[in-house]
Amino acid sequence: MRRTRIVAGLLCAIAAAAVLAAPVLKAGTEPLNYVDINKIKGEGLQRSQVMDLASWLTDVYAPRLTGSPMSQKAAEWTVAKLKEFGLVNVKIEPWANRNGFERGWTNDKFYLAAVAPEKFPIPGTPTAWTPGTDGLVSGEVVMVTATTEADLAAYKGKLQGKWVLTQAPPDVAAYWKAPATRYTREELDALEAWPAPQPEFGAAPPGGRAGGPGAPAPGAPPAAGRGGMGSMAARNAFFKAEGALGTFTTAPRGHGIYTVGGNRAADPATTLPAIAIGAEYYGRIARMLAKNIPVTIEANIANTFHPDPPVFNIVGELPGTDKTDEIVMLGGHFDTWHAATGATDNSVGVAVMMEAMRILKTSGVKLRRTVRIGLWGGEEQGLIGSREYVAAHFARRQPAPAQAGQPGPPGGRGGIGPQGPLELKPDWDKFSVYFNIDNGTGALRGIYLQGNDAVAPIFREWMEPFRSLGMTTMTIRNTGGTDHLAFDAVGLPGFQFIQDERLQPGDLQKMATIAAGFAYFAANRDEKLPRKPLTVPVAGRPAK
Ligand SMILES: [Zn+2]
Repeated sequence: MRRTRIVAGLLCAIAAAAVLAAPVLKAGTEPLNYVDINKIKGEGLQRSQVMDLASWLTDVYAPRLTGSPMSQKAAEWTVAKLKEFGLVNVKIEPWANRNGFERGWTNDKFYLAAVAPEKFPIPGTPTAWTPGTDGLVSGEVVMVTATTEADLAAYKGKLQGKWVLTQAPPDVAAYWKAPATRYTREELDALEAWPAPQPEFGAAPPGGRAGGPGAPAPGAPPAAGRGGMGSMAARNAFFKAEGALGTFTTAPRGHGIYTVGGNRAADPATTLPAIAIGAEYYGRIARMLAKNIPVTIEANIANTFHPDPPVFNIVGELPGTDKTDEIVMLGGHFDTWHAATGATDNSVGVAVMMEAMRILKTSGVKLRRTVRIGLWGGEEQGLIGSREYVAAHFARRQPAPAQAGQPGPPGGRGGIGPQGPLELKPDWDKFSVYFNIDNGTGALRGIYLQGNDAVAPIFREWMEPFRSLGMTTMTIRNTGGTDHLAFDAVGLPGFQFIQDERLQPGDLQKMATIAAGFAYFAANRDEKLPRKPLTVPVAGRPAK
């Protein structure tokens, strides 16, 4: 068997040599060193520290809103931990550009309750970068669903000292399905059979989970802080000018779950206290108002702005041997939103990738290439940290001529405006691959090939040792919304795993083991991973 494989490999190499410049794909010849793989599995599955890391990152050093004092404290803990694991060149790396983070923000006190006609507490969370109340305040509630300037004019002079419900109460669907599910065999098969007939952009793909429960209902007003800020900001400015006390929003998910964001560039002069509350409370208040029963709400909310906040990524590495100047990266975003402890988004990715680095170091396996961890800030505000890192170390898109002189990268999640040619740094050629975790938080079930067919035969073989851990599926499909896109955007191989949902200790152990295994394979194969053909011109370099 072994001999046959070697001969087959030689034949492939000879055949490939005759095809000049074609990537050499030697199916069935990835070197799988099962002695090392067993060391990685032993460390990751029998002596795991991943749940301890996850606890520190969620129970103690959370939430980690970008630019908040806690994000800095958590980063210092992370740096110390990575050093303790034996990584080198561990550091907090500030971004070259602030990207609009002029102020950090924290919610330091929160009291919200109805006081008439009945007294009941209202759980909620302030929208980030909004002001608190002026101490203890109280006022009646008004619903204003008007969005146009003309319709809003009807409320002129009627909002002084009032709270504003800014949207109609959503319909909340019952949970007929369990909140946490594993991908079924059928769903995984559907992913592997991609491309299926293309759904509309943003719709849930067949077998996939994009969108999912909690996606905004059609016609819902834009959530504060993420896209569509224009109309929301204009309405809030109107409410503020009219002397309203603050605004309430909710989400159709219900069952006590709501989502909250924020706009780091919100202008304090036109921003009111804004609070996300659960759909059940929102609906109760709205339904009382519909019966012409006045509702009075009391609040005392203290939010603090922190000037010149820290904005950064965290990096550290395990040096390679004979290919030490070549780079394999593992990572995920370090920042979270502020409503909870960020366990599933994305403390799990941070804990798993830190653990993968620990596994690689502690198991003592040889790494030919340098394996580097990157933990990104500002992902939730538009993949900012990873884009900053890629621009600083690997490549950046020059601004399109018309855009030259505009500060900072374009905003928006994955939104890339018109851009010029690629400007490459020396390490662009030294880069092999980046693996990201930020997708659903549960067991790894496979990998998205991100449209890169050439890696399929390689990943197929790399998955084999982890088949028993549930890692079985490859799909040519792209997956978006997170930091591998920052690498993909400049022609570097960047991948995201296919994942189940929810944090489970066994899942996290398997995740870290698989991530360590993939980094190990990438660090040790003879060639760097094949890339997709570049579709953009490269500045100062003839097209290949
Ligand atoms: Zn995330």
